[in-house]
Amino acid sequence: MSKFKIITILLILLLNVYISFSQENGESLGGEYIHQHTENCVSTQDYNRISKMLSDNISSLQNQGVIKTANKNQVIKFGFPLKKVDNLQWNNFYGISGFVDQLDGSGVRDYNCGIRTYDEHYGVDYFTWPFQWYLVENELVHIVAAADGIIIGKDDGNSSYNCDWDSGQDWNAVYLFHDNGSISWYGHMKENSLTEKQVGSSVLQGEYLGVVGSSGRSTGPHLHFEVYKDQPFTRANLIEPHSGICNDLSSESWWESQESYKKATINTILTHDDVIELGCPTINEKTNFQNDFKPGDRVYFSRFYKDQKQGTISFQRVYKPNNTLWNQWQQNFNENYDASWWYNFYTLPSNAESGEWTYEAVYEGTTLRHTFNVTSPSNVDDNNPEEKIEISPNPASDVFKVSFSKLIYSDMIDMEIKSLTGNIITKIADIQENQEIQVDYLPKGMYLVQFRFNDNLYTKKLTIQ
Ligand SMILES: [Zn+2]
Repeated sequence: MSKFKIITILLILLLNVYISFSQENGESLGGEYIHQHTENCVSTQDYNRISKMLSDNISSLQNQGVIKTANKNQVIKFGFPLKKVDNLQWNNFYGISGFVDQLDGSGVRDYNCGIRTYDEHYGVDYFTWPFQWYLVENELVHIVAAADGIIIGKDDGNSSYNCDWDSGQDWNAVYLFHDNGSISWYGHMKENSLTEKQVGSSVLQGEYLGVVGSSGRSTGPHLHFEVYKDQPFTRANLIEPHSGICNDLSSESWWESQESYKKATINTILTHDDVIELGCPTINEKTNFQNDFKPGDRVYFSRFYKDQKQGTISFQRVYKPNNTLWNQWQQNFNENYDASWWYNFYTLPSNAESGEWTYEAVYEGTTLRHTFNVTSPSNVDDNNPEEKIEISPNPASDVFKVSFSKLIYSDMIDMEIKSLTGNIITKIADIQENQEIQVDYLPKGMYLVQFRFNDNLYTKKLTIQ
């Protein structure tokens, strides 16, 4: 072996030691998340099919008297077309990847004179963020009507799991007709998630239309929101609902409340027991959510941002159960990203206090907190905890009961129902034997039910169906 080789190997070894050391001591890992897009979300062939279907349906609904003569002067203002379910307790759940392309022909320009669009893109693209596939599978982000209207078309039956442009499939979508004759399109929905209301039915602003998916020409879950002021569905009638100095398609904002072109936002913070992966589709996404740790465990602390802004700083702190500070670090952002994800990992001390720890992040005036539990082995009963507390029925639909084994001696047993990401949905103190717990308000899915008594913490999984 030459001297050169030995030195190289030594350098590599040293570098590895340095990297693991520096990571453990606070280097933020992660980076930009790119919702890849190169072309319009709808092929010319699809445009022709959709335009014809909608024109035919509008004529037919006019003949039936369902659609009245439009009042073209009426001003319509849109509400936001996405809504998260209540038990997704994130600060924000989306990013924006593209606006309407203002340039007819080659080249791109958005309403704000930037290039946040794609060539010939006729809509606004909102991608869910982070854990897009977790959100799709659990139907946590809904597409809702931007304004009152009448359903003039529905497309369904296409796969929701596309990750590239060449899917060769149509999308799943709902199309609405509004009182002033304008028409809004909501595309890329999850298959079989569309509203049960039929063509010709009325919907109100904010009403459910479907779930964000990745059907049609799509590289990941997002909503394509496209608006026309009138028929036919051509560039002459196309609207960019945001007002801005480079918007040649509409002079006024169509929004009740127009959001900023870019707004640096921290969407959520979470804890994990391993490195997360953000691939496409579902099988390539690893959430590794974890909120229960033991002393000496490695905890991955993640953070997700929309419009990460150069020159801003994110401050992180972790507090022990008695609210004393355990760890803190900050991250200075040197880049602008539409979306970004970062994580740091730290190992809990071998004598870490049992109880509820708090991970906190402060970014651009917003403070987010996420709690996780540390349970010392001395507090974990050797007996199979599954036998000590039973919840039944499980799966449950509207109600379940709790029964305790005689082995539990405690004056007080407290119960929490949490989402899989650890957000507390309900807390009930002093649970009684056979007490009925109402859960009919919970969306279908998997939950954690945690019981606390005498420093013990037992967790059971509950399925709502
Ligand atoms: Zn689009």
